[in-house]
Formats: sequence, C-alpha cells, structure tokens
Amino acid sequence: MGTSEAVTVRAPAKVNLELRVGGPRPDGYHELATVFHAVSLTDDVTATPADAITVTVEGVHADRVPLDGTNLAVRAARLLAERSGIDDGVALHIRKGIPVAGGMAGGSADAAAALVACDALWHTGLSREELRVLAAELGSDVPFALLGGTAIGTGRGEQLTPALARGDYTWVVGLSDRGLSTPAVYAEIDRLRAGRVLPEPRVSERLMQALRSGDPTALGASLANDLQPAACSLLPDLLRSLAVGQEYGALGGVVSGSGPTVAFLVKDTEQSLDVAVALTASGVCSDVRRVHGPVPGARIVEHGPGR
Ligand code: ATP
Repeated sequence: MGTSEAVTVRAPAKVNLELRVGGPRPDGYHELATVFHAVSLTDDVTATPADAITVTVEGVHADRVPLDGTNLAVRAARLLAERSGIDDGVALHIRKGIPVAGGMAGGSADAAAALVACDALWHTGLSREELRVLAAELGSDVPFALLGGTAIGTGRGEQLTPALARGDYTWVVGLSDRGLSTPAVYAEIDRLRAGRVLPEPRVSERLMQALRSGDPTALGASLANDLQPAACSLLPDLLRSLAVGQEYGALGGVVSGSGPTVAFLVKDTEQSLDVAVALTASGVCSDVRRVHGPVPGARIVEHGPGR
C-alpha cells in the first residue's frame, strides 16, 4: 500500500474458434454466436498512482496505439473511477505482446487489464460480476478478456457462458501488416449476403463436441468463421495463407474475427514449427507466432512497490 504501489495485470488475446454472424440489427450491430478461445499472446498493463489518468505504450507497433482518451485502457480507468466515485489518477503502462489491429482484441485485453489493475490499486473491491458489467460497456470483446479460457459469446459477443472444454491446443498465428477495418468487413459480408434469409446464428454441436472430448483433429475440422469470405474478398492474400497452412498439415485454419490474423490449429510443437516456417517463407504473413490455449483471463501478475 502507499503511494509507491504498482499493480501489473496480464490479459490474453483471443481467437474465434467459430464465429456465426446474423443479419444487421436496427442498432447497427450484428447478432453473433461465437466461441472465444484465449491464447498465450498477452499484454501487460502496469498501473501506478498518479495525479491524472495517463497511458504509455511499448512493443511492436506501439506507435499505432492512441495515447489520448480513446485508448481503451484509459477509457476503462475513467469508467471505473466514475462509477466508484474515485478522484485518483493512474499512470498506465502497456507492454504490447498482442498485435495491434490484428483481430485478436488487443485493445479489449488492455481495457480488461486496466479494470483489474485499477480496481486493485484504488482498492475499489469490485466483484468479478461488477467488473464484467463495466467491461461490457467498454466493448463486445472486453468481458471475454476478463474471463479467459474458452467461452461461448452471444448478443454482440458480450454475453458469455464458459464452454465445457478439455485439452490444451497448439496454434500458429499468422499476422498481416495490411489492415482490415472491422466495419469494412461487416459491410462486405452484408454485401455478399444481400437478399439472403439468414438463420439465427448458433455455434455448431460438432465444435462443442470436439471441445468436450478434447479432440484436436475434430476441432480443426470444425473451425468456422462467417466473416472469412468477406475478409478474403477484401484481402485475397488470406486465401494464400490458409492454403499454406493446409498444405503443411495444419488440422484446421481460420481467419480470426474480422482478420487479418489467421489462426492454424496444429498437432504438436513439431508441426507448429513446420507450419510457422512455411508461412514465414511464403511471404504472405508479416509475422508468425506459435502460441497455446486456453489461458486465463486478466489477472494480477505483480503487486508491489512501484519503480
Ligand atoms: P477488434 O476488437 O475490433 O477485433 P483488433 O483486435 O483488430 O480489434 P486492436 O488491437 O484492439 O485491434 O485495436 C483496434 C484499434 O483500436 C487500433 O487501431 C487503435 O486505434 C485502437 N485502440 C484503442 N486503444 C487501444 C489499445 N489499448 N491497444 C490497441 N489498440 C487500441
């Protein structure tokens, strides 16, 4: 305790194992049914007492992260302060391990981490449920970054039910430097599906069964994303990247969320190396990472004197 206290919270990136997208709703959002899976690409957010709420960022493409009030970690700290009647400031420092604008919800991870860090720093003592409510106000993917593991998301993705899932999975994640804007991908899917009657989105029994039995081969065959045709239509390189993963024996490959990240499920570490080397050599990915999942949601990794 005291003014030199600092709290560091780690929060994970997500991959959507399945993403089903309904038609556009009157409020502009799309009804979703998705299976989130937290993977071992993480951001660390350190909160230190300060007079005002500020943020600094380090890591790959840190320069692409806003440092003003639009930063999701700043928005999270402000929201918690406002709802808890706190006047204190906080200096937030983000160490980014999650690619920026990669469809892996890095900003959402920072928001979740900032909520948990400030709650500990300011001793506001919110329950997990109270934090979840604030998280849902900040963005559709923020509640999952708090929860972690593997979970079904409905509504805009913010209504979560933990999934019955077994096993630890090895992934190769192919990143792209070419940006894909989330609204543009949704507009493209609406264009591609114009005039079609869309069923209510639901996750498949096949994928849930694969998770229950912890069967990576069945899971690989069940990966699915309704946004994939739209993302590939806007960025055809994604099709090449998916083909490389398939050629090198990945159990399955899928565009994560609205892209441009592509996630490949592989059998083991050896195969992850094969797929990673092939993707790197193909030149279609700007960066390739080997990760595993599921991992926990936002959690304190260090609580002690500040620097
Ligand atoms: P989405 O949640 O839409 O899938 P994403 O995972 O593709 O997003 P993010 O890394 O979350 O991408 O960043 C999307 C945009 O949000 C960035 O381009 C950036 O301008 C803005 N942003 C705001 N706060 C942050 C933050 N703390 N970290 C990263 N980006 C942030």
